[in-house]
Amino acid sequence: VTATAPTKHLSMSPPLLPPTISRHVAVIGAGAAGLVAARELRREGHDVVVFERDDQVGGTWVYNPRVEPDPLGLDPSRRIIHSSLYRSLRTNLPREVMGFKDYPFIAKNDKKRDQRRFPGHREVLLYLQDFAREFGIDEIVRFDTEVVHVGPVKDNIGKWIVRSRRKICDDVREAGFGFDFEEEIYDAVVICNGHYTEPRIAQIPGISSWPGKQMHSHNYRTPEGLQDQVAILIGSSASSVDLSREIAGVAKEVHVTSRSVADETFQEQPGFDNMWLHSMIESAHDDGSVVFRNGRVVVADIIIHCTGYKYHFPFLDTNGIVTVDENRVAPLYKQVFPLVLAPWLSFVGLPWKVVPFPMFELQTKWIAGVLSGHIALPSPEEMMEDVKAFYLTLEASNIPKHHTHNLGGSQFEYDNWLASQCGCPGIEEWRKQMYHAASKSKLLRPETYRDEWDDDDLVLEAYADFIKYTS
Ligand code: FAD
Repeated sequence: VTATAPTKHLSMSPPLLPPTISRHVAVIGAGAAGLVAARELRREGHDVVVFERDDQVGGTWVYNPRVEPDPLGLDPSRRIIHSSLYRSLRTNLPREVMGFKDYPFIAKNDKKRDQRRFPGHREVLLYLQDFAREFGIDEIVRFDTEVVHVGPVKDNIGKWIVRSRRKICDDVREAGFGFDFEEEIYDAVVICNGHYTEPRIAQIPGISSWPGKQMHSHNYRTPEGLQDQVAILIGSSASSVDLSREIAGVAKEVHVTSRSVADETFQEQPGFDNMWLHSMIESAHDDGSVVFRNGRVVVADIIIHCTGYKYHFPFLDTNGIVTVDENRVAPLYKQVFPLVLAPWLSFVGLPWKVVPFPMFELQTKWIAGVLSGHIALPSPEEMMEDVKAFYLTLEASNIPKHHTHNLGGSQFEYDNWLASQCGCPGIEEWRKQMYHAASKSKLLRPETYRDEWDDDDLVLEAYADFIKYTS
C-alpha cells in the first residue's frame, strides 16, 4: 500500500513564495521532534515557545533509572516516567541514517563521547543537546512546564488556548508538586509529545487469576531481579529482540511469543540454549502455567509485555474533531494536519517503522512553510478526499486500523513527498540503502549487527555528503 500516496493535484503544486506571515506558535515537547520543530518554525520567522514537562531537552533519550509504581502502566493517575529506555540500549539504526539531514550525527573526536556507529543512548542525548545549543533552542524552552490543556478559542478557529503548569517546588508529599498555572493564546499548536510512554498491554484469557508478575517493557531498565526466573516476553519488535537477549543471560528460561508466526511455531533461538520462540499465548492459569497456541505449556514467573504504546493526548480537547480510536489518530491529512483545524493544529512524529529524525525535520519544515503562507495546502474538501481514499486503501488491503501510522515500506516515499512540498532535497540514496542494509543485518545477526557490517562504501558516501554541513 502506498500509505501516503500524494494526490495528482498535490504532487504538481509547487511551494508558493512569499508571503511570510509570522505566527505565535506553541510546540509541546522538547524531544527530537519538538527541537527540530522549533528550529524550522524559527527559520521560517515564527515566534515560538516550547513547553517541556521535564527539566531538560531530549525526551525519550533522557534515561531515567526509575520506573513507574504500576509496572503495567494501567493506572491513569500514576506518576509518569516519560522515557522507556533500558540501561544497555544502543541505537538500532546506524548514526549516519539516524541523524537530522542537515545536522549529521557524526562521531565526535572526543574521548568522552561514544564513537560507535550504533552508539549507546547517552550519545543520542548529547547529540540532541548539541543540536539545541547550536540553534539556540534551549533559550525558548520552558522547562518543568507541562501543557495540561489545548483547545480552540470559541468562535475563533485560528486561535488556541494553551494552559500549562510549571513545577515550582519538588514537594514529595501526597499533594504532589507545587505548580504555577498559566493560560495563553497561540495562533498554532504543534504537538510533539512523543508516543512511547503509554503502554499497550496484550489481552490474555485467564490472566486475572495467573499468580506471576507482569510488567510492560516501558518499565524495564536492567535484568536485575530476573536471575534464574522463567520469563515470557510478548512481542517480537525491537525492544523484545534486545530484552530477550539480555534477560537470557541471567534467566533460567526465556520464552518469546509472537503473533506474526505460525501457530505450530516452537524454535530454540540460534546461539541460546535457554530461549525459544513460540506462537501466541492461548491462556494463563491459576497454577502459574501459560499455554501457547503451539500446545506447549510453561510455568512462568514473569510476563513482560513488549507490545508497544498508545497515542495519548490527555491535554487535547478539539470538541471531538480529532479522535484516537484503535490507535488511529484521525482524521489527519498526510499524518500531520487534522482536517478542519489545519494548519492551526499539527502532529509531528506519529508514523512508526520509520527513520524518525529526518522525517520530523521534513514534517516540521512543511508545517512551518504552511503556517507562514509559503506552502499551500489543498482545499478542505480535497484533503478530506485524500484522507478518505487513504483509509479505504488500508481497508481494502486488510491493514488493521491500529496500523494506520505504520509507514514501513512507504516511509521514504512519504519523506520525499514532504520534501517536494517544501521544495527541498528528499532522502539521500545512501541513507535509504544504509537503512535497508541495517534492517537486513539486524534480522540475520541480531546479536552482532551493531558491531559488524559490510556497508563501509555507504558510510564513505554519507560522510562525503556530510561535508557540506560540517565544514
Ligand atoms: P520524545 O522523545 O518522547 O519527546 C517528547 C517530549 O514531550 C518529552 O520530552 C516529554 O517530556 C514532552 N511532553 C510530553 N507531554 C508533554 C506535555 N503535556 N507538556 C510538555 N511536555 C510534554 N529512534 C531512532 O531513531 N533510533 C533508535 O535507535 C531508537 N530506539 C528507540 C528505543 C526505544 C526503547 C524507544 C522507546 C524509542 C526509540 N526510538 C529510536 C524512537 C524515538 O522515540 C525517536 O527517535 C524520538 O526520540 C522520538 O522523539 P519525539 O520528540 O517524538 O518524542
